[in-house]
Parts: sequence; structure tokens; C-alpha cells
Amino acid sequence: MQVASILKDKGASVITIAPSATIADAVRLLNEHRIGAVIVMENHKLRGIISERDIVRSFGKFGAGALAQPVESMMTTKVITCSKADTADDLMDLMTGGRFRHVPVLEHGEVIGIISIGDVVKHRFAEKEMETEALKLYIANS
Ligand code: AMP
Repeated sequence: MQVASILKDKGASVITIAPSATIADAVRLLNEHRIGAVIVMENHKLRGIISERDIVRSFGKFGAGALAQPVESMMTTKVITCSKADTADDLMDLMTGGRFRHVPVLEHGEVIGIISIGDVVKHRFAEKEMETEALKLYIANS
């Protein structure tokens, strides 16, 4: 299963935030959209990613004052991305190796979507179910 078909199912909407926005703004977005990470963009360029884990770390670092800190103080700037042609297995390897659960999808340098570990697991599961059904059908007809 390729990233392209996962994106087709879930849609290409991407929630973004500016580096100068506050951690409080990021928390609001995560809550509003029920997501675990937000892509940080500036002038249409990918600048970083901030996830719920970074936000928890910001409380460890700044205490209650974390909410007023800018997103850029806690975001990850070396973002690992993928393309539409990558497979669910490629993403599993990236996420397991890098210990993160979100991968933005780039096309011609533009962010066209984001895949979470939940999306990958859901599609792998559906794929396995289809294989099982096909095998059952094959056995029943042989
Ligand atoms: P996550 O598991 O996605 O909540 O992220 C765990 C940590 O990895 C956080 O510090 C994120 O900023 C960082 N992170 C998340 N996604 C990526 C990515 N695609 N590339 C690099 N770092 C990431």
C-alpha cells in the first residue's frame, strides 16, 4: 500500500502553524482537530514539526510559562518526510527507526499531507484482512 492511497482515503488536509505562534496556540490546534502533531510553516516553507511530546517537554523546561513560549523554541527542525510513492512499510521503518509518529508528505517541495502511525496501522490492518479473505475464498474454492 502506497502513501498516495492512504492520502486518498484520509484527505490531504494539513494543519499548520507559524514558528512565532505560541505553544498555547499549538495546544488549541491539537485539541480542535484531535491530532498529535502540527506542521510548522513559514512563507509556504516547511520549517519544523511540533508534537504533543514536544509540548510536554516544554512544560518540563519552562513550567507553567511554557504556554507563552513560541512554537520555534520546541519544534523539531530536521523533519523526516516521505513522498506519495513510499509504501506503508517504508513509513513503518521510518517511524520505528526515528521514534516519531508523524511524517509529512512532500511533492515538488510542497507539503501535500501528513501520515500518522494510526493511519499506517489502520491501512496495514485493512490490507491483512483483505489478504485473509482472499485466502479463505481460495481455500473454499479449491
Ligand atoms: P511524535 O511521536 O510524532 O509525537 O514525535 C516525537 C518527537 O519526534 C517530537 O520531538 C517531534 O517533534 C519529532 N517528530 C515528529 N515527527 C517527525 C518527523 N517526521 N521528522 C522528525 N522529527 C519528528
